[in-house]
Formats: sequence, C-alpha cells, structure tokens
Amino acid sequence: MFNALYIDKVDDQYQCTMTSLNDTELAEGDVTVKVTYSSLNYKDGLAITGRSPVVRRFPMIPGIDFAGVVESSQHPSFNPGQRVFINGWGLGEKHWGGLTEKATVKGDWLLPIPDALSDYDVMAVGTAGYTAMLCVQAVQNHGITPESGKILVTGANGGVGSFAISYLSKLGYTVVASTGRAEETPRLKALGADEIIDRASLSEPGRALGKEQWAAAIDSVGSHTLANVCASIQYGGIVAACGLAQGMDFPSSVAPFILRGVTLAGIDSVMCPNEKRLQAWAQIAKLIDEEMIQSISTCVSFSEAMESAERLLKGEIKGRVVVDIQHA
Ligand code: NDP
Repeated sequence: MFNALYIDKVDDQYQCTMTSLNDTELAEGDVTVKVTYSSLNYKDGLAITGRSPVVRRFPMIPGIDFAGVVESSQHPSFNPGQRVFINGWGLGEKHWGGLTEKATVKGDWLLPIPDALSDYDVMAVGTAGYTAMLCVQAVQNHGITPESGKILVTGANGGVGSFAISYLSKLGYTVVASTGRAEETPRLKALGADEIIDRASLSEPGRALGKEQWAAAIDSVGSHTLANVCASIQYGGIVAACGLAQGMDFPSSVAPFILRGVTLAGIDSVMCPNEKRLQAWAQIAKLIDEEMIQSISTCVSFSEAMESAERLLKGEIKGRVVVDIQHA
C-alpha cells in the first residue's frame, strides 16, 4: 500500500484527498519509483483545488514532477537503487503524477539525477529553473557570447526570469532585468542583474523596429512585450520565448526577422526531447549552488501539500515549494 493525493469526480463533485492505494493500482509503465520529493507548481495548485480544468483524465494523481529511487525496472537504462527524476510529459494532467509515495512511469521519460545534485535540489530547481536553462542554451547555441552585448530578461521576478538572470550572470553575461516590481531591485541585483528597467516601457503597442539595444533576450511574458523585445534586438540576435504572463498574443511584424535577421526561438519544457534535457541539467548542475537552492525554495511535508496548494494560488508562498513525500 502507498499514499497518494487522489483527484476524482464523485457524484460530479471534484475531490482531492489523501488516499491509500494498492500496488496493483499503479499506472502502466516500465519503471516503479519510490518518490522522495515532488514540488508544487501553479498548475498543481489548480489541479489540487479544481480551480481550473488542468486534469484531463479521472482519477488522477497530481504533481508535474518528482524525484526518487528506482524500486523495480524493466527498462534497460534504469536499475533498482538508481536516483531518477522527471518533469513534464503530461504528468498530473494526462498521466499519474508525483504527489505520491510510489509511481510507475515510462522509463523513457525518466532522467538520472546528476551526481552534483540531490533529490531535493532537482525539485527546487524544478520546471522553472530547467525552462530558464533551455532558454539560456538557445541563446548560447546561437553563438551569443558575453562580448556580443547585453541580454534582456523579462518577467524578471518570476520563477523562469529569476533563474535566467542567475545563470546568465554566472556565465559572464551582462543582464538587463525587466520588471514591474522596482522594489525588488536589491533581490534582482543579488541574483546577478546589472541593470533594471520598468516593464511598462515594453508592455504597450510599439514600433515595428526600435533602437538595437540587446544582443539577445529571454522572454516569459509574450504579447506586446515580446513584440517590442523582437523590435529592439541587435542585428542577428535571438529571442528565446517561453511564456505568456502578459498574454498569448504576438502583435508583431516580420520586420525584425527579415530586416535584422533576428531569430525567434520557441522553448517548450513539457515534450522537450531527453538529449536537450540532459544538456540543460548538466549545465544547471555546474551553475547552481546550495545558497541559491536555500534562497529559492521552501520545504513542506506531504500532509501539508493540499493546504500549501491553496496558499500558493493566493500568492502567500514565495519561490519554489518542494514537497517532502516520505515525511507526512
Ligand atoms: P511567474 O508567475 O513566477 O512569473 C511571471 C512573471 O512575469 C511575474 O513575476 C512578473 O514579473 C511578470 N508578469 C506577470 N504579469 C505580467 C504582465 N501582465 N505583463 C508583464 N509582465 C508580467 O511564472 P514563471 O516564471 O514560472 O513562468 C513564466 C511564464 O512561462 C508563464 O507564462 C508560464 O506559463 C510559462 N512557462 C512556460 C514553460 C514552457 O515550457 N514553455 C515552462 C514554465 C513556464 P515582474 O514582477 O518581475 O514584472
């Protein structure tokens, strides 16, 4: 038997409860993992509370990620005792997720935890920190070096933005952070931002082409912000776009692309192939340190997860929430 958060519709009523399940009820898959840590993301908060239709199949175990130790495996890449983790792939939406003491998943979705990181670390970095690294690597792979010029990061105080600033700064880039929260300037500077700009300067409809200000940008905001960012990238530069905090629209023109050779790179973390994931986590393992992990994460016990999901949606918890699954 094992405990899991279990979402079901009973008499058409959405319910999430801590439930005891039998091993025979485990999902289909070729690797069974004893889960040590999971995390609470905004999407998990929506799933646990039923506030938004995140869950696509019932019953469902929420949790878009987990870390743990392989208990049994029919997959050639994994052996019992090995430390593994998983992010995305529809976990907690289409497939049973990580807020459980035990999970069976497709081995093809699992990755080994890098030696330099603990189970807790990979969950503290989570999808935000991994997505930020996918963005940074898109910039690096485009040939942008610290000598190329300044790098703009929008949504600076968000999860993705904060990690992107920290990584870029550690890699020697000059980072410009765009934020609506000027009062957070000391925090952004401590993360590694060299300059802070007001996000209002980017959020309104703008010109098709503006002054060439940045060698590259990492954008988690979308909408007019993404359009204005593209219009202000230096010749041959790149924008790594991963988010839609301002909106899903993209009210732009082709001018930056056909007149300045700007590249717009789309970043997706959910279905990203393992080769790219491994490259991202290898660089995260080199750049992340214990001080950063401590400053960005809060740990809650498994029994506190449901209440913490409510607090997360109310904006009462800052930073990443790691769930210690083996401590109730
Ligand atoms: P957060 O909610 O932590 O941060 C978003 C930040 O965007 C805020 O902190 C704020 O930064 C800024 N922001 C919010 N609203 C607006 C607005 N109306 N106009 C301009 N800026 C705004 O989210 P995450 O960092 O975790 O994620 C960022 C985005 O990336 C989200 O849209 C998310 O869905 C997406 N995402 C995509 C992934 C992918 O695979 N493509 C994976 C992970 C996330 P500030 O206060 O500094 O202004």
